[in-house]
Order: sequence, then C-alpha cells, then structure tokens
Amino acid sequence: MTMNNNTSECIIVRGAKVHNLKNVNVNINLHKLTVVTGVSGSGKTSLAFDTIYAEGQRRYVESLSAYARQFLERMDKPDVDEVIGICPAIAISQKNSSRNPRSTVATQTEIFDYLRLLYARIGKTYCHSCGQIVKRDTPESIADEILTLTPATRFYVVFPAFTEIVKSSRSKQTNSVKAHLMSLMQRGFTRLYQEGQIIELQTPESFTGENLENTYVLVDRLVIKADVRQRLIDSIEIAYQSGGGQVGIFTLATAEATSKELYFSENFECKTCKITYLLPEPRLFSFNNPYGACSTCQGFGNTIGIDLDLIIPNRQLSLSAGAVDPWTKPQFDWALLELKDFCKEAQIPMNVAFDDLTPAQQNLIINGDKKAKWMGVKGFFDWLETKKYKLHIRVLLSKYRGYTSCSDCAGARLRQEARDVKIGNKNLPEVLSLSIIKAAKFFDTLSLTETETAIADRLLLEIRRRLHFLLDVGLDYLTLNRLASTLSGGESQRIQLATNLGSSLVGALYVLDEPSIGLHPRDNQRLINILKNLRDIGNTVLVVEHETAMIKSADYVIDVGLGAGEFGGEIIFEGTLEKLLKQENSLTAKYLRGELEVKTPKLRRSIGDKKIEILGASEHNLKNINVEIPLGVMTCITGVSGSGKSTLIHNVLYANLKKQRGEWQEKAGNCRQVLGGKYLSDIILVDQSPIGRTPRSNPVTYIKVYDVIREVFASTKEAKAHGYDASHFSFNVPGGRCETCEGDGTITVEMQFLADVELVCEECKGTRFKSSLLEIKYRNRNIHEVLQLTVREAISFFSNIPRITNKLKVLDDVGLGYLRLGQSATTLSGGEAQRVKLASFLAKRTSEKTLFIFDEPTTGLHFDDINKLLISFRRLIDAGASIVIIEHNLDVIKTSDWIIDLGPEGGEQGGFVIATGRPEEIIELEHSYTGKFLREHLQNCLQEV
Ligand code: ADP
Ligand code: ADP
Ligand code: ZN
Ligand code: ZN
Repeated sequence: MTMNNNTSECIIVRGAKVHNLKNVNVNINLHKLTVVTGVSGSGKTSLAFDTIYAEGQRRYVESLSAYARQFLERMDKPDVDEVIGICPAIAISQKNSSRNPRSTVATQTEIFDYLRLLYARIGKTYCHSCGQIVKRDTPESIADEILTLTPATRFYVVFPAFTEIVKSSRSKQTNSVKAHLMSLMQRGFTRLYQEGQIIELQTPESFTGENLENTYVLVDRLVIKADVRQRLIDSIEIAYQSGGGQVGIFTLATAEATSKELYFSENFECKTCKITYLLPEPRLFSFNNPYGACSTCQGFGNTIGIDLDLIIPNRQLSLSAGAVDPWTKPQFDWALLELKDFCKEAQIPMNVAFDDLTPAQQNLIINGDKKAKWMGVKGFFDWLETKKYKLHIRVLLSKYRGYTSCSDCAGARLRQEARDVKIGNKNLPEVLSLSIIKAAKFFDTLSLTETETAIADRLLLEIRRRLHFLLDVGLDYLTLNRLASTLSGGESQRIQLATNLGSSLVGALYVLDEPSIGLHPRDNQRLINILKNLRDIGNTVLVVEHETAMIKSADYVIDVGLGAGEFGGEIIFEGTLEKLLKQENSLTAKYLRGELEVKTPKLRRSIGDKKIEILGASEHNLKNINVEIPLGVMTCITGVSGSGKSTLIHNVLYANLKKQRGEWQEKAGNCRQVLGGKYLSDIILVDQSPIGRTPRSNPVTYIKVYDVIREVFASTKEAKAHGYDASHFSFNVPGGRCETCEGDGTITVEMQFLADVELVCEECKGTRFKSSLLEIKYRNRNIHEVLQLTVREAISFFSNIPRITNKLKVLDDVGLGYLRLGQSATTLSGGEAQRVKLASFLAKRTSEKTLFIFDEPTTGLHFDDINKLLISFRRLIDAGASIVIIEHNLDVIKTSDWIIDLGPEGGEQGGFVIATGRPEEIIELEHSYTGKFLREHLQNCLQEV
C-alpha cells in the first residue's frame, strides 16, 4: 500500500465534522511547523488528534497485519469526507503511556537496552570479595603471561588428576582411582606430579593413592623461549580438555628465582577467592528477567516491611499524646504503660513533641534498650509477627506496612553478579542513578581501549545521542532510573519527543498536544528549536498550543473558534503569523496584538499575619528550605522545570497538612515542621488527574447534579407507572442500564500493538440504557437525550429547577458551558478535568478558610479562558479561601499577590528559594529567571495597551 501517492505539498482535509467541527476544510503544509490555536473547547483536539491523527493511524493499520485489520471496520472512522496526502502519524500526547510499573526513563528511551548490551560486551567483572578483575583464561592469554617469565626457566604444564574423584566418598575412591588411572594411561598420560616428585605410571598400581588433591597429571615439560608459544598453547588446550577446564603451570627453581605454581582456569572465576561469576550477557542486566533480577526483591528494588512514617505519623505529637500510633489502641495499653516506666527511668520527657526529643532518645524509643528490658517499637512489631496467626493482628500489621529499600540490593534491583560488572568504574545501577546531565558527561568522557571501541562504538553512539536529545528537551535533571509513573505529563511528553528524535524517522506527521506544559519560559526556545529540527529533517509537525512564543515561531497558524463547543468548530484563520495579526475577528489575533489582554491588577491584596510556615523541607532536591505561604491571597510557585515546585507543594505542603489531620496514609515529604494548619478548615488539591476512570463518570455525576436529574425522571407519571425509581436511571447499577456494556456505551478491544480501541456498544448503540427505559420522557426528552445536552442548553431546559441550574451555572462560569452533560470522564482533557473539580468546589460554597492548591491550571487554556479562570479564583478568595498555584504562565504570575520562586536550576542544582515577594519586587531581581521573563512580559503589556 502506498500512503504518499499524492504529489501535492499538503495534507488536505475536507468536510471534517468530528465532535463540534462544522464541516470544515483545512490544508496542512507538508514539512512545515503548524500551530493550531483557539479557546479551550473550540475544536483544536478534534481537528488535530481526532481527525488528522486518527485518519493517519487508521491508514497505517490498514497496512498492517490481518489481526489488526479485522477491527478496522469497527474502528471509528473519523467523521470527515476525505483526507488526502496523509502520512504515517505519530501522536505525542500528555498522557503517560506506560502501564508497566517498572518502566523508567532509561527503558522508555531505549537507553536501557543499549546499556545492557554495552555491559554485556565490554563490562569487566570485579570479584566482590577481593576486588580483582575476574577473567576467563584462554590458552593464548595464559601463554602470553607465561612467556613474560625469565627466559630459560623450566616449567611443567599440568592438570589436576582427580578432581571428580576427590568429591566422591572415601569408600568409593579406591576403585575409581584405579579405573581413572587406567583411562589416563590409555589416553597417553604416563606421568603424575605430586609435591615436586614425578611418578612414572607403569601400571595403575604404581600410584599408592595418597593425597589425591595434590596430584596432577603432567602434560608437558617446557623451557621459556620465543619459539615455544605454539607448543605451549597446544599443551594448555590438552590440559583444559582433560582436566575439566583447569590447568597449572609449575616452574622449577633457578639460580635467581624460587619455584612457582600458577593456576589458570577456563571458568569465569576469581582465581584467588575461587568464587565463580556469571558471564556478562544482556539478560544478566535486566531486572525484568528472573535471571538478572535480585531474588530477594524480584527486581522491584524494595521489599515490604514496617514503615516508621506510618507508625509515628505525626512527629509533632508527644509520646503521651499518642505519637506511636499502634499504642493508642486500647488492646495495647500495656505497651504504653511499659513505655511510661521506661521513659521515667531513662528520663525521656513524654510531653514534648516526638520531633523535639534528641536523636538518641528517639533511637531508644524505636530500637529499645536491652539493659532496661525495654522492647522498643521494633521489638513490639517483632512480637506482633509471632502472633500473626490471629486475623486482627494481620490486619493491624498491614496498616503499618510500607515499602523499604531491599536489604540485599539496596534498590539496585539486579543480582550481585550483575552488580559486579563495571564500565569506567561504575556498575549498571550506578550509571542508572546518574542524572541525565551527569550520565552524558560520563559517556562523553569515557575512555576505552582500541578493542573495546571496536566492539562498543555503535552502542556508545546511540547512548550518547539519546542522552543529548534528553538534554535538548530540558530534562537534564531527571535520573535515568526515575520511574515513568512518577513523571509529570509534560516531562513524559518530552521524553517521548526525545525518543522520537532518537529514531530519526523521516516523512512522518508528528502531532503534539501543548508541549510547553511544565516548561519555564526560559526553556521554551529550546523546545521550539527541537520542533523546527524535527521539521527540517523532513517531517510535518502539527502542534496544539496556546503559548505566545510557540505561535510566533510557527510557519503557519490555524485558529479555531470563535467560541467553545457549539460556538466553535470553525476555522477562523489559516495562514502565516503576519496575516493572522491582521485578522479582525480572531480572538487570538486580538490578544497577540494586545487589544485584549489579561489585565494586571493595579492593587494587590494586602498580606496579613496568617500564614503557613514550612520549616526545613528536604524531600527530593529541596535544600532544607523554609517557606512562608501567606493566607487569604493568591500565591504563585514558580521556577524552571525540576526546580522542586511539585515536591514542595504536593509532597511537602499538601501531604504534611493532610497527615496532621489523619487524612494521609502514605509517606509525606520530608520536612521538620509545617505550621499554621490550624488556620485552615480544609486543604484541597485541584490537579489534572481524571475525574473518574470509567466512561460512567461525567461532569454531572461529578458535581452531584445527576442525582437530581434522576429524581426528576423518576417522578414522571410514566416512570411511576412502570415502577422505575431513581436507581433505574443510573449507569452504575444494574436495572435500567444496558448490561452488554454495563452502562459504558462503549466496549474496549485490546490491540496487540496499538492503543486499545473503543467501539460503540452494539446493543444500546451508545445510549447506555435499555430501550424500555428510553421511552420515559421528561419534557419530551429521554434520559439519553438529556445527557447529550450541553451545559448551557441544560440550563434553559431545566430552568424551573434551581437545584439543577445553580450547579450547572458554576460549570458555565469556569468556561465549561460547552461540555455535554454526559460526556464521559475519559474524554475530558486534563485542563477540563481540573476545571470540573474547581466547579464542584465553587458549587459547594464551603471555601471559607480552605486552602486550594492548583497545578498548572492554565493547561489547555487560551488567553481568553485564562481571564475567566482568574475570575473564579477571585471568587474563591473573596469567600475567604487561600490559593496556591504552581504556574509558568506569565499572565497568571503577573496577577498573583505573592510569588515564591524556586531554583536556580532543575534537579540537584535546584531546590533553593531564589526569591519571594510581590511581582513588582520579583522583576527587579537579576538572579531570578522568572523575574527576567516577567519583566519582559510586563514591558510588552505596557507597550501594547
Ligand atoms: P479543544 O482541543 O479546542 O479544547 P476539543 O476538540 O477537545 O477542543 O473539543 C471540541 C468540542 O468537542 C467540545 O465541545 C468538547 O466537549 C467536544 N468533545 C471533545 N471530545 C469529545 C468526545 N470524545 N465526545 C463528545 N464530545 C467531545
Ligand atoms: P518541578 O515541579 O519544579 O518541575 P519537581 O518537584 O517535580 O520539580 O522535581 C524536583 C526534583 O525532584 C527533580 O530533580 C526531580 O527529578 C526530583 N523528583 C521529583 N519527583 C520524584 C520522584 N517521585 N522520585 C524521585 N525523584 C523525584
Ligand atoms: Zn534486591
Ligand atoms: Zn450498551
């Protein structure tokens, strides 16, 4: 099949009607960088991903296996008249694509595969007992070594005579010794060597059979001189064959030197310690392979044990106030009594915070004191282990169990023999624990011998290339062994980008979704250069993006609009930036020209006394920092990617505040103390994670308005007549829902090599309900039709039921009026999900004294949407809430009341507080990247107003 049979210079899309697209035509120029922009919900994703990418992927499947093709008919063909000139398409999205919990940065970028090969080919094994290099001796290498001895030295080539027999029992030995000697004689070996004596074997009886271990068979007698090499090699080979891979070279004493016994072996073992090692091969270096994985932890790097953070969840509590959680249970009050006795004796105060006890005192409490007959926390748990046959004890133990680093491999995941193999003095786990910048330096400066270079050159080239791509996309601070599951959406996307750069595919269509997410303005230019590079090597690049610098760098811009949902779906403009700037009706153009802008507030809220104080935060890369977050205002946390923003806000601030309330079971980020929690009635993290993982969750179930809608349907005359109650209108429980798809409306089919494919349920045709239930109508619409309404349409449809409209209006307020009530949670973007969550809090009106935490809330938002979002934030603060935002968007940063800038760089070079203050103060600071970019941004704003 040929995909590129058109000769035109562009991909031509005709009659696209996917989602809200209004039968649009558009051309994408080949080998160019095109940015698709427009307000959130206008149809950018529907065009770029759901039409163009989907068609590219479908054509690609057509060219693949029969197995894949059988689903083709059922694979949704995008609703488009035709797409001409499409090339193989690659989507680089924000979704974390990996489901393997062991997947890491190194495995995702294929660097791991190359490293395994590299270690297998040129790694050197060092004995873990004596540190010597472990080698396997070849006849050639032995000969080379022997020929360095003093010329004219006489020596014997021997092999151990009775290796096998020595291992067997005494009673069997006499007979087998005879048989063995016979067989040796038959093979032509007629001399034995024992402690300096040569024994001539006339008959097997010539040997008396004492001291079997020190008896050798003499293969050859030689003298060191130049032409002896070949004969020596032959003799060693004979000795290896007959002696089970062992050979000895015994020199005779000369005038200058005493006699010497040198041992060599064909086995891969330490000649001194006699420890056998495994030959390096790729599977030895894989923790996914049972052969290479550490057997204690099965390659996970951690094992389950008791977790002190769970046992002492709040280190601010004193011992008498119940710092040791298990001892607050009535059934263990005896342990508390023992603790009291011990504390009295050891003079440990029971009424101060556990954290304020000296390290020695804490140690006594935890590890016990034998002399004082005090068991300690550890002893208590050892005792519990012996009572595990009781169910309630098992339940209790499970509550305090957590992951601890594996005692055997200390988290390295590989078995000892793999860890003994090194290159440039580092073993594989050590290399994997390097940050990308350090790994790049390591491999750039690695010096190899000529032979090693010949074997490993290609591998090294691939490794270096990939590391440099990762540097280019700004991920220098990530370690190679970082788990993929802990990466942010932006980081994960940039890793896919680097991986694709590594594969240097040409002639493909790359479709990207907001690649600037998570990037500080400082690093935007680098990202843009990479996309241009991708284009210049012969690819077509299509980017959905809102960020100004990216729009300004595009060859072509496609502006989708004008509004969202029903009010969008049209191509407002396609062409170059120059022409876009002249457009009258484009919102994007108005913002780019500065006619519209996100206003900088003239007055900022005053900073009061109430604040949250974080003391000594040291999780991940944080450098034992103290941070004050003022309450009742909007605070922005800024800094380059990897500087520590998420660590400070998610792991330290959020987790510790939650832990203080007993609402956090896992480990909270390390810090000495978080003060000020008493000012807060609640702490709410509004992040971009999906609002539900099944298609059965949707915006109206999430904001709890669906319950009311179901009641409305259940209260109709027809429903009552059929005996339907509110639960029949639910897709979560059997009753009214379609049972074929269990209310999903779709069926998921797993494909071997592509992402899973969703197919519309054949039974209910995607309506999710039984046909009998669909006959029940309220104001002439059935439940399925109501779920198809947009939020705005529903507001007028239910206008007489304020319980419904009040909540729906909040969705409209946060800019989601275009969403359909029943649009499944799985199709919402991260930004939309975040705004649905925001709406649910606004609808509850419980925001007084609540601390809201947002993580890049501008994801997916156009300038125009940001204005709306800021209005919602204002409402929350006016109602008494406090807001903390992790953000790179300069329009949001400039409107904040307070900025906390972290840095200066990502990873180890970050984790410091660089600056704090009002935006006007931050822009004066030379050493803050945020200050520098904010200053430029504000100058532009002023010029353009
Ligand atoms: P953008 O990418 O510009 O934010 P989208 O293309 O995601 O906009 O959405 C355009 C419209 O299509 C919106 O009204 C959105 O709610 C709707 N939409 C998006 N995905 C789906 C879907 N899977 N099913 C139904 N409607 C959808
Ligand atoms: P930011 O939010 O500013 O981009 P992060 O807080 O995500 O920065 O990262 C700060 C540092 O901590 C980086 O070096 C990062 O690699 C490291 N880090 C973050 N999360 C984890 C994790 N789950 N495991 C190990 N290291 C992490
Ligand atoms: Zn282990
Ligand atoms: Zn169904």
